[in-house]
Amino acid sequence: MGQLARAVGRAMGVTLRNLFRKPVTVMYPDTPRPYPDRFRGILALVYEKETGEEACIGCRLCEYICPPQVIKVEMLKSEKRNYAKTFTLELYACEFCELCVQVCPTDAIIMLKTFDLATTDRRELLLDKDRLHALGLQFEPSWATGNRLRDMQAPPKAPRGEPKAEGKADAKEPAE
Ligand code: SF4
Ligand code: SF4
Repeated sequence: MGQLARAVGRAMGVTLRNLFRKPVTVMYPDTPRPYPDRFRGILALVYEKETGEEACIGCRLCEYICPPQVIKVEMLKSEKRNYAKTFTLELYACEFCELCVQVCPTDAIIMLKTFDLATTDRRELLLDKDRLHALGLQFEPSWATGNRLRDMQAPPKAPRGEPKAEGKADAKEPAE
């Protein structure tokens, strides 16, 4: 009996302590939660800032690199540059690995600083080109673009005039 009373007393103590604590529940989506600075969420396509044209040139690199093969692109050839005739992304099967962003030569596909696309209907997560562009306009982009990510991976270049590091000599150097 004594053991039981002590256990009940301990449990009631925990209940009492929590009764006067500030609630930690956030009433999302009425109260938005700020995402961390480096958060990268759902994918989108963007327009070029200078021209307002679609930044995607339909090169299909993102399609080739995507591990679960959820991207499908058709290229539209044009005189000055190419475009994506169609672009679909099955977001419900995306792994969010970011490889598509890393390979994009024109920074056309990006990740957004949001995850606010919850739905009970999978069909709403089959994103076509228009929907992907609309998402790009609707939400804040994340810091990461293909060019920035590639720059981070490249080995730092030696300042001009400095000799090349050992083992990286020019391949055309004559043999002794
Ligand atoms: S984030 Fe990864 S899985 Fe998702 S579309 Fe891009 S490459 Fe495919
Ligand atoms: S999003 Fe980028 S990688 Fe994909 S097809 Fe367009 S230009 Fe190529």
